[in-house]
This record gives sequence, structure tokens and C-alpha cells, in this order.
Amino acid sequence: GNAGGAVLAFISILGALAVARHTEGPVRAIESAIRRGDFIPYYQPLMCIRTGRLLGCEALVRRKRPGGGVDGPGAFIPMVEATGQIFEITRSMMAHARDELGPAYNARPHLKVSFNLVADHFSSLKIVSDMKEIFEGAQVKMDQIVLEVTERQPLPNLGEARVIIAKLQELGIRIALDDVGTGHGGMSYLLKLGVDQMKMDKMFVDAIGSDRYSTAIIDTLVKLAADLNIEFVAEGVETFEQIAYLKEHGVDAAQGYVFAPPLPGPLYLELIQTLDPI
Ligand code: C2E
Ligand code: CA
Ligand code: CA
Ligand code: CA
Repeated sequence: GNAGGAVLAFISILGALAVARHTEGPVRAIESAIRRGDFIPYYQPLMCIRTGRLLGCEALVRRKRPGGGVDGPGAFIPMVEATGQIFEITRSMMAHARDELGPAYNARPHLKVSFNLVADHFSSLKIVSDMKEIFEGAQVKMDQIVLEVTERQPLPNLGEARVIIAKLQELGIRIALDDVGTGHGGMSYLLKLGVDQMKMDKMFVDAIGSDRYSTAIIDTLVKLAADLNIEFVAEGVETFEQIAYLKEHGVDAAQGYVFAPPLPGPLYLELIQTLDPI
């Protein structure tokens, strides 16, 4: 009868809801992953090749897999940038790094940690309030933080970006231009944005020993950084030959597999304890 029909309809609604929950769309899946804390930082050491000392690290996002192991940013960054979820992921990475590195960094004020931002971070002052919210009064101090802006993506508005960068710098945060030599900004970004550090793209390091044009560019960038009083970092260093070349050509800071890949938190903390014991 009628009652039986109503019960059946009720059961099928419950069934539909259950199915909907188990086949949540990609946006919802990312939301749940953020809530579960599946997006975590790995830390790649940054070394001084003149002194052999540890300078700090770059935090690089990883997503925990259900079965163990992690996925790199290539698997999800394009999507979370498109949905805007990159902002929540960045905040949660920063909070994770603050808590994980806090005691070690508090005891070693010279250590730095860099975070990667996307072009959209530089079109709203939200990033300034986010940084205050996450790091004010924290054991990782503002002057231990570097925020990286990549040259690969065009910045929507240079004037606005300049204002945001200046406000971040007022907090004591340093700004790095990442992937220098790859794209949009080039020299005009270095000059207009007022960055504190330049990270030369790996392609120039790869060319050491083979391509005289690229190595001429290394010399030019090193000199430019020195003239502008900007810190210089070489990325993607994989061989001792490259270290020797960079050292000879006036580069101090380097990052790459020759030293270490991005490391899970506990391993990076162990490395700090080994290289920089208290
Ligand atoms: P990136 O910022 O240029 O980071 C350096 C990338 O090069 C990292 O890849 C690192 O693992 C890799 N790498 C480091 N040393 C070497 C080396 O010696 N040889 C080679 N072949 N590779 C090396 P990863 O972690 O896969 O990140 C790729 C890119 O994804 C990053 O490039 C960055 O643009 C983006 N990314 C990573 N984490 C974040 C994040 O938290 N937020 C945002 N917005 N982007 C991120
Ligand atoms: Ca970077
Ligand atoms: Ca805006
Ligand atoms: Ca880079």
C-alpha cells in the first residue's frame, strides 16, 4: 500500500545520499584531504657551499596517500589552483611547518624556511593577515620566513604585488623570486618587486660544463644579485662538478639532490641536529 511505497522512497533517498557521499567530487575529496591533514610539507635543505653550513630549507607540499607514501605537487597543484583551494592548503602547510620546526628554529634563529606562493597570492592583502595569524608569537619568527614568487606565472598586477610584498617585508618576511630565467618577469620583476633573494632556475645549473651561453648567464645573474644586494640561490644542484663551478663563480647558497632531496619532517629535524647541534 501507500505506507510501503513511502518506506521504499525513503530507503532509496537514503541510498542516493550514501552513494553521493562515497562518490564525492574532486573538490570535496580535496576538502576532506585538507581536513584530515593529508597535505604536509617536506623540507629540502639549503646549504652554504662556502662554509658547508645549513642555512635552512624550502617547504614543498606533499599529499599523503591512503595506503602510505606521498604524491608530489604535480599531481594536484594545477587543480587546487583552479579551485582556489591552494590558499587553504598553503595555510595548513605553514601551520604544520610552524609546529614541526618551532623548537629547532627557536633555538637556531639563523635558520630560514621558504614557502612557495602562487601568483594569486599577490593580488590580495589576505596573505598579509594570514601570515600574522599563523606566525605572530610563534617559535618560527617572521625574519626566519622566506616567501617565494615564481617567474613562471605572470603576476596579474605588478603594482598591487609590489604593495603586498612591501607589507610582508614590513613584518620581517623575506621575498624570493623563484625560477629566475624561465619566463615572464625577468629583469623587470627583479627591479620592480623589490625582492630580497633570487633563485636561479635549475636549467642553468644543468648547463654547467656544456653550454657556454647558459654559464655566461650564471655569471651575469650572480653579478646582478651582488650589485642589487640580493641573495643568490642556485637550485637543482646534482653534482660535485656543479658545486665547484658555482663556488668558483661566487655563489654561496645552493639546494639540490647532491645535498638532499626534500625530506619528511623527522628526517629534516635529525639533519638539523647533526649539522647544527645545540
Ligand atoms: P620549485 O619551487 O622550483 O621547487 C623545486 C623542485 O625541484 C622540487 O620539486 C624539488 O623536489 C625539485 N628538486 C630539488 N632539487 C633537485 C635536483 O637536484 N634535481 C631535480 N631534478 N629536482 C630537484 P617538487 O617538490 O616536485 O615541486 C615542484 C614544484 O611544485 C615546485 O617547484 C613549486 O613550483 C611547486 N610547489 C611545491 N610545493 C608547493 C607549495 O607548497 N605551494 C605551491 N604553490 N607550489 C608548490
Ligand atoms: Ca620554490
Ligand atoms: Ca586584487
Ligand atoms: Ca624553483
